[in-house]
Amino acid sequence: MPATILAVEDEPAILELIAVTLQRAGHDVLKAPDAETAQRMVREALPDLILVDWMLPGMSGVDLSRRLRSEERTRQIPIIMLTARGDEQSKVNGLESGADDYVTKPFSPRELVARIKAVLRRRSPQATEDVVEIKGLRIDPATHRVSAGGTILNLGPTEFRLLHFLMTHPERVHSRPQLLDQVWGDHVFVEERTVDVHIRRLRSALESTGHEVLVQTVRGSGYRFSEDMS
Ligand code: CA
Repeated sequence: MPATILAVEDEPAILELIAVTLQRAGHDVLKAPDAETAQRMVREALPDLILVDWMLPGMSGVDLSRRLRSEERTRQIPIIMLTARGDEQSKVNGLESGADDYVTKPFSPRELVARIKAVLRRRSPQATEDVVEIKGLRIDPATHRVSAGGTILNLGPTEFRLLHFLMTHPERVHSRPQLLDQVWGDHVFVEERTVDVHIRRLRSALESTGHEVLVQTVRGSGYRFSEDMS
């Protein structure tokens, strides 16, 4: 599944190189020339990962990273910092500010793609193409297929994304606004009852194999994907 990556870099040539490299690797890229623009974009929709240059005009990459880590809504977004070669102190500061990894400039496109893949695998399993199987229910993001035993289950695109998010984050309760953010990418303009509608559709798609019981309502809180039926 392609990840949405927000790249924050003030040098247009480098920003373009990043964008082309990541698009070629199958990702969707959002571009911001400074931290303030990046913050505005994150307020509208959460990206799967942020790649941020350490040296930016105005707010620095480190400060942006700290701010994202200090807010509940943005705390979990994986961050990779771009630093200058050989600047050990900036690497240390970058990691201390909450970045998950850093890449030194100049970087090779292959290295950048590999580091992003590694961080996504570690931090955002919903943005990878790994097959997930729980209680015989199997979801394959690469082929967009959901199956149980030999039965192929037919899900709409939203139900597919919803199930994928729930199965990659099992045993946790997700509120409606959190699901809107993570699955719809929009917690502002989409109504919360939209979530209920799609949960209902998802359950009915899973009914033929009895897996609808794994999609559970937690009264007053939201929804959870759980093997625990008690
Ligand atoms: Ca810069």
